[in-house]
Amino acid sequence: MTTKVSVERVYNFSAGPAVLPVPVLQQISDEMLALPGVGSSILEISHRGKKFIEILESTRQRLKSLLNIPDNYHILFLQGGSRLQFSMVPMNLLRQSGKTASYILTGSWGKLAMAEAVREGSVKTLWDGKDSNYDRVPASLAAPDAASTAYVHYTSNETIQGVQFPGEPNVGSVPLVCDASSEFMYKPIDVSKYGMIYACAQKNAGAAGLTVVIIRDDLLPTNRDDLPGYLNYRNHAENDSCYNTPPTFAIYVLDLICKWLQDDIGGLSAMHEVNRGKAKLLYDVIDASNGFYKGHAQTDSRSLMNVTFKFANDQIEADFFKKAAQHDLTDLKGHRSVGGIRASIYNAMPVEGVSALAEFMKDFAAKNA
Ligand SMILES: *Cc1c(COP(=O)(O)O)cnc(C)c1O
Repeated sequence: MTTKVSVERVYNFSAGPAVLPVPVLQQISDEMLALPGVGSSILEISHRGKKFIEILESTRQRLKSLLNIPDNYHILFLQGGSRLQFSMVPMNLLRQSGKTASYILTGSWGKLAMAEAVREGSVKTLWDGKDSNYDRVPASLAAPDAASTAYVHYTSNETIQGVQFPGEPNVGSVPLVCDASSEFMYKPIDVSKYGMIYACAQKNAGAAGLTVVIIRDDLLPTNRDDLPGYLNYRNHAENDSCYNTPPTFAIYVLDLICKWLQDDIGGLSAMHEVNRGKAKLLYDVIDASNGFYKGHAQTDSRSLMNVTFKFANDQIEADFFKKAAQHDLTDLKGHRSVGGIRASIYNAMPVEGVSALAEFMKDFAAKNA
């Protein structure tokens, strides 16, 4: 892949859709008029044709290899975003089970996921971080009852609060369901610990319109005529994600991102090293600022993907955005529900971009503290 860019790019800290690797954008651009050997672009070819099936299979194999996904899991390429998974998970795994679903709430997205599950059956909260304003992950958890719990759902990285689990919560033999939307493939994980993982692509894995679902085969529903066809995981598994027209362009982009992770980065352990280094640059500035930058998350729950902090007053905050933009550092506004600053530094954000932000923050603090 080449890295030549002929246009001015800013350092874009958007939470999603978010920055993509330049070599990936370059290849998309190079192939936009015609895929090699095809004579048409990815946007113009049938999802049942040889070339697209090849791309779909390549994406699946690359994901399998990067995440070391065991053979007893299906990888599904769906639409509807992670929001639709908030409903599909309880429709498939809770409705008609006679069991209860347990939710671990560490921020905004987990709460929204649970609100959808309530429509489908019996739901309870296993842990809720609201007393400390969602600034941490649980230090310990009550063990869920294996016989009566359909699954435990958690949000591995809360994009809005900037709170991330350093590892999976231990839920014994109960299927663990993870919304990994804003951290997907940021480090190696042990997939066999999960019943299901889902992630919309536009944070860490490409273009909007695609949601990846990794589901253990025994969780695919059986004999479920109550479910609309599209909303039944089994239909997607049995039709190799071509039950209907899948999001072909976004799958092609994900294939290129996986290739970039494999060939340019050197796999997920190497990616994790880079991500740790990038996050440290910003948290070190926050920690050395004598409270000028007020980080939201507790130290051991800090996200490597979304770094969130506030100022003593709104005037300084407004000034920060203005001056940052003058340095080509953009999209730093925190989510409207919590305010402050959020620097999203996903896999594709280059170290240079994070360094530039860290330097700007040091300088800004020196002038305004
Ligand atoms: C962005 C996000 C969602 C929502 O994704 P959509 O694709 O907009 O439905 C859900 N969960 C988390 C953790 C997210 O970051």
